[in-house]
Amino acid sequence: MTERCIIIGSGPAGLTAATYAARANLGPFLIEGFQEGGIPGGQLMITTTVENFPGFPEGISGPELMAKMREQAVRFGTRMNVDDVTDADLSRSPFTIATANGETYTARALIVASGAIARRLPLESEKKFWGRGISACATCDGSLPVFRNRELAVIGGGDTAIEEALHLTPFASRVFLIHRRNELRASKVMQTRAKANAKIQILWNKTVEEFKGEKTLNSLKLRDTVSGEVSELAVAGAFEAIGHIPNTGFLKGRIATNDLGYIVTLPGSTRTNVEGVFAAGDVQDHKYRQAVTAAASGCMAAKEAEDWLRDQGCEC
Ligand code: NDP
Repeated sequence: MTERCIIIGSGPAGLTAATYAARANLGPFLIEGFQEGGIPGGQLMITTTVENFPGFPEGISGPELMAKMREQAVRFGTRMNVDDVTDADLSRSPFTIATANGETYTARALIVASGAIARRLPLESEKKFWGRGISACATCDGSLPVFRNRELAVIGGGDTAIEEALHLTPFASRVFLIHRRNELRASKVMQTRAKANAKIQILWNKTVEEFKGEKTLNSLKLRDTVSGEVSELAVAGAFEAIGHIPNTGFLKGRIATNDLGYIVTLPGSTRTNVEGVFAAGDVQDHKYRQAVTAAASGCMAAKEAEDWLRDQGCEC
């Protein structure tokens, strides 16, 4: 059976697209993702409190917000499957989608909302200590016994880095925020919180050159980006928060992307260079990357897919 609309991704963009597509009678089928590109539900699943999503004045936990969005999409009839898309033939509509479980689906319209995944430092020693003291998720791993009452490091200077550092302070004896410049990229409110927290110490102009230890991580070799001076910092854990990479690997270059790998959409639209393929959320947004902007673009994608299907004479 050819689906009218397949949505790839289950973050705010994919689930909002599903709700709108379902309410437009497109009978959407959503592939949630499994191992590739992060966990089902997207990056909010590993966020603590979301304080800036409209409608939740007291804040809401990331997983709870995603559970509500999912429930809403299902309520209007979205069908879902947990699987990883491995290939997509976009040469013509209906498009053919292949998955890691060996399934093949076809769809007249496709909404790509596969999000982005945490970037990792390209160091051999990083691979060695990954899961042995190095993590990219303080929410997931920060409270582990090995990190309790220990000195920990967070690498990065954006909102995620500060959120991670703040999350670690109840468990850690001290958190070093290691940033490569002398100015944080994070929003002012997050900077204020970090600077007000006595357990957070910012190490300016530092990059990690090597993760060191025996079986598990016990120190970082740092280089000062101004003086070039090398130093060693003893820590029991390091949390990487250095940005994201869009999940477009399964598209294998068959859609236009920018030089950072983000899908290019037409200005003010979710249309891509492939007719019938729409992109929403972080996979096409390097600038805002917020839950609310992802949700908004998911809505746009569903509405544009609906219009496109109607123009194609598809009964919806
Ligand atoms: P960002 O891209 O904003 O920040 C990444 C940080 O990592 C930057 O400080 C960057 O340094 C640093 N970095 C990148 N590569 C390296 C490297 N190789 N070595 C060392 N440092 C590196 O990503 P975030 O994940 O922090 O945020 C993404 C988006 O999500 C933003 O729009 C942010 O506002 C939003 N967000 C909002 C939250 C909230 O509102 N509560 C929480 C979390 C995220 P440099 O600054 O020098 O480029």
